[in-house]
Amino acid sequence: MTVNISYLQTKIEEMISDARRLLGTVIEQTAAEDKKAKARESKWFERHRLHVLVEAAQESLRRLPEEIRDPWLVAELSALLDVIRTWRNDPLWTKIEPSLVNPTEFSHVIATLLVAEHWKGSGHRVELVPTDSRPTPDLKVQAIGGKQEWLQVECYQPKLLAGRPVRIYLADAFKILKEAMKKAKFQLGSEIPGILALCTYNQPVSNLEVVSRAALARLAQTSRAALSGIMLFSQNNLATRSPTDINFSPIVMVEFIQNPAYFGSIEMNRQPTGETTRSGGTPLTEIREPLTETVVRDFTILQREIDKIENSPTPAAIPKAQIAPIRGKVERLRLLPREPYDRAIIIWAGSKYSWFFEGEGNIDYVCASCGTILSKRAWQLSLTNVVVQCPNCLAYNEFPVQQANLYTKTNNIVIEPGRYSFSGTVFLKRGACLIGGVATIHH
Ligand SMILES: [Zn+2]
Repeated sequence: MTVNISYLQTKIEEMISDARRLLGTVIEQTAAEDKKAKARESKWFERHRLHVLVEAAQESLRRLPEEIRDPWLVAELSALLDVIRTWRNDPLWTKIEPSLVNPTEFSHVIATLLVAEHWKGSGHRVELVPTDSRPTPDLKVQAIGGKQEWLQVECYQPKLLAGRPVRIYLADAFKILKEAMKKAKFQLGSEIPGILALCTYNQPVSNLEVVSRAALARLAQTSRAALSGIMLFSQNNLATRSPTDINFSPIVMVEFIQNPAYFGSIEMNRQPTGETTRSGGTPLTEIREPLTETVVRDFTILQREIDKIENSPTPAAIPKAQIAPIRGKVERLRLLPREPYDRAIIIWAGSKYSWFFEGEGNIDYVCASCGTILSKRAWQLSLTNVVVQCPNCLAYNEFPVQQANLYTKTNNIVIEPGRYSFSGTVFLKRGACLIGGVATIHH
């Protein structure tokens, strides 16, 4: 069992010289600060990542042929250099480069570039958005097909999920999401459809599952109509095909969790969830793939860490505290004292009542008087200025009048004032707003 040492040596030497060539200025400008961080014994994940990665590569070179120092960091350096090579030719690079000096910004920029590469890889036009005095997203991605509108992407890299892998619990995941959603709200605004990308490094699948469940539960409670969903973007640098072949191309796992409250016109294709390798190689299996002890001794350390999290305390089932209840919202409509004039009024005429409307959103609208469901899983903008008579208590309920500027970007269907009988459920569509018309002649 032999690793092709000369190949490895050349490869790592190349990485180090490329890092100096492509990011020399950043290395120089941050060297003093990193020296201080080391002097006060900061942990590797608290330091400027670039220094940590270059150091891991240098140390590996020094130790060859015995072992590679923290090979996942060497793999991360390799992936990082790949994206820098591509994006440094971007017209906006000169505006982005200065921010790499800041350790937090550095990691954020790299995560953003990796996400950008992912979109590009699936055939989208992608643009970086330079930081501005106003809140801005990180990326713009153009939708394929339809009106080819642009979607905004905000990348967020939680500290807890970018360093040494530790087991995280639902409470941690909710905390992460709270921060991420806050940031997304600020950077993405509420006008243009957007996606929040949560970027993580070297996480065990169990952690990603916890985050995914928390995201599902969190989104069930949101009313953000412009947020298309949360993309879990996890880069895993622990990659090997065989004990003798070290592969430096990372595995990227992507999961998209759709926001049920989303009411925009761009649809995310939910198909390509899964894994891709960035360099177009054969997709590797996910992190649970057992790694045999390799000649490269350190290679197993991260895997051991991850296994510890993955396997202890080996719960037979997910503990109760780890199950996030996924509950939508229930909103009571406004009660009208009597049957109104000159409004679009819908009454139930069918034999067996289900509900008037049903969609795939996250709000159940109920009768303000008796609580009967009138519209199931609707979106906030599905219905405006429409009156329905509760088939149970016969009270007249009004769907609130929405601000006009909110639904100007959706497809609108106006229904004239009058009485309409439903004998079955009408299905609501995302992005289509049913507006009760206003009578022009008053009685
Ligand atoms: Zn009722």
